[in-house]
Amino acid sequence: MRALVFKDFDAVELTDVPKPAIEEPSDALVKITSTAICGSDLHVLHGRIPGMTPGSILGHEFMGIVEAVGAGVSRFKEGDRVVGSFMIPCGDCWFCDRRLFSRCPDQRVFGYGSFLGDINGAQAEWVRVPNADIALHTIDPALTDEQALFVGDIFTTGVDCAAEGRIAEGDSVTVIGCGPVGLMAIQAAKAYRPGRIFAVDTVSQRLEMAQTFGAVAVDANSVHATTFIQDATDGRGTDVVLECVGLVPALADATDMVRAGGRISVIGVHSDPEFELALNMAFVRAIDIKFCGTANIVGRWDDALAMIKDGSASPDEIITHRMKLDDAVRGYELFESREALKVVLTP
Ligand SMILES: [Zn+2]
Ligand SMILES: [Zn+2]
Repeated sequence: MRALVFKDFDAVELTDVPKPAIEEPSDALVKITSTAICGSDLHVLHGRIPGMTPGSILGHEFMGIVEAVGAGVSRFKEGDRVVGSFMIPCGDCWFCDRRLFSRCPDQRVFGYGSFLGDINGAQAEWVRVPNADIALHTIDPALTDEQALFVGDIFTTGVDCAAEGRIAEGDSVTVIGCGPVGLMAIQAAKAYRPGRIFAVDTVSQRLEMAQTFGAVAVDANSVHATTFIQDATDGRGTDVVLECVGLVPALADATDMVRAGGRISVIGVHSDPEFELALNMAFVRAIDIKFCGTANIVGRWDDALAMIKDGSASPDEIITHRMKLDDAVRGYELFESREALKVVLTP
């Protein structure tokens, strides 16, 4: 079958590889109908995730049709149309029992190398899905592939961030960072019917898209974003801030942009060891900082699908490029150069 494989750091290649097969009783074999390139595929590609073997398949956002299941799979059968979760929780640890799937210590990730389970990815014609009863979700025939595809990753990541921010109807919300996850956080936040959403970024294409999603674009190149947000909220700051960048200055801005007693929900991936938090300020202003960690896809994808079904979110609006799997290398180039915000590939 055709597949997009990791060749070396910064090099991918489309090539022929053996078609996967059922290996364990909990496996399903899924014939891919749509797959996408995710920002975290680039982390693998640039060597920020160690343990990637040359020749292994990339990709962890996918939809498809179940072609075969192992003897231990009870919830799926041949012919089911499914979306896959990027993460594969073990399903029976203390955390999984409490539906805290993203805290599962034994979770695996598609296309993420030997440290995360050595599972081939989904930018291919077929994918083997371990723990299929947990890692797959059936999709209503009323939804298109494009509508449901991001439920396995970026949209539900946005939902997780918005949910942890506990947005109430009428709240004001700031979203810092309008990359794909930030844009999905805006889509998800909308479903909670906030009053206003402010979208902070410096890239005009992202800000334009945030605006089409109904947010007020705050271009940090041309205005001082914190001042803008304070001015727009009578000096208070917004009720909720969704931090979708994962850098120290963004988190520092979040503490300035949130109102006293407000909530900061952090979905940006932080790797700095330290952050200087003024504890007297944090105490007096009573701010609540919640780190989401890796998003709880399997715990939240029912909520994500409900938002799409009732029309309160349309994550497919983020798609800028549709290509054949055979053009995936070009897709990576466009994504890397930020010409493409979201690329969907079809075999
Ligand atoms: Zn991803
Ligand atoms: Zn577990």
